[in-house]
Amino acid sequence: MQFEFAALPWEIIFGAGSIARLPDELDRRQLRRALVLSTPEQRAHAQQLADLIGGRAAGIFDQAAMHVPVAMVAAAEASAATVQADCTVSIGGGSTTGLGKALALRAGLPNIAIPTTYAGSEMTNVWGMTDAGRKQTGRDNRVVPTFAIYDPELTLDLPAAISGPSGLNAMAQAVVNVTAASPNPIITALAIDGIRAIARGLPAVIRAPRDLVARTDVLYGACLCGAALGVGITGLHHRLCHTLGGSFNTSHADTHAILLAYSVAYNASAVAQGTARVADALGVSDAAGGIFDLLHEVSAVTNLEQLGLTAADLDRAADIATETPCANPAPVSRAAVRELLGRAFAGERP
Ligand code: NAD
Repeated sequence: MQFEFAALPWEIIFGAGSIARLPDELDRRQLRRALVLSTPEQRAHAQQLADLIGGRAAGIFDQAAMHVPVAMVAAAEASAATVQADCTVSIGGGSTTGLGKALALRAGLPNIAIPTTYAGSEMTNVWGMTDAGRKQTGRDNRVVPTFAIYDPELTLDLPAAISGPSGLNAMAQAVVNVTAASPNPIITALAIDGIRAIARGLPAVIRAPRDLVARTDVLYGACLCGAALGVGITGLHHRLCHTLGGSFNTSHADTHAILLAYSVAYNASAVAQGTARVADALGVSDAAGGIFDLLHEVSAVTNLEQLGLTAADLDRAADIATETPCANPAPVSRAAVRELLGRAFAGERP
């Protein structure tokens, strides 16, 4: 066996009720003026957090938005300067974590992440910002949160319509790494346990959204899957999701959730051993079929047509996705990608 592995500077506190640790953790690091970040929808969560940390809260910026628009980052940066913030605390999903990362990159502000979806961004060094309809992304260890607090109690009210796709978005990060052309054994270990935890917990979360045991399983899985992406690779699956999200504004989590089964089927013969490991973690005999069934169990949105795409959009998406080479276990051609998108549009069994 031969491999290389470099971890990211992760610090994680995980457990029900662990949000209560936030004031002490800020004090321990001498962080005294936090700008609390949220989306407008989660303003109440931001206020609760500000109340929890009391005088350590310098202000709230509640305008976080999907795809981290540069104008929004500039507004948050101005707000941080006005209140003389010495760190940010993001409470929310990948959009809000993404804003904290952007401020870490642009203003050097330490960012603390309190994830309330399963996006897993808090475990990665990937940042993204959108300007004039173009999303720029990169990897930089400075955006890895100073620490993250995973409290499953904060996810009890996450609507089922977000929970299902978000859980599959997390799973995708692990699946692409188990089915990589040269899988890394440490990343695979993280990823397999992440897939297992999500497969176990996600259907139960949809049946009973306030089931704390199931919520804990899925949040734990999201942490591991995010870690796999943080130190791992992406391939055709992420290229397609990035294309559809970036050029057609489809919902990030739904796009991942719908495409995952087809991406797995696309690579299955090229990486048979990894694909079998994914199937084993899911407890099924066929990985792509198992993911397809899981999608139907946990989400009402199961095909690309439901995301508002048209057949003409698929042609353009296939062009854009194959404009530049994409590292992927199975060879990538425009025709094969168009076929994959067509099947996902129709919602066919992969
Ligand atoms: P999101 O952050 O946009 O959240 C979706 C909606 O759910 C928002 O309105 C949010 O306020 C709400 N919400 C979140 N938690 C809630 C809760 N507990 N209760 C009620 N409402 C809640 O969606 P997302 O899928 O978490 O993140 C998507 C974004 O994250 C994309 O822009 C994607 O590119 C990015 N992302 C980045 C990485 C990375 O490594 N950089 C990884 C994954 C996703």
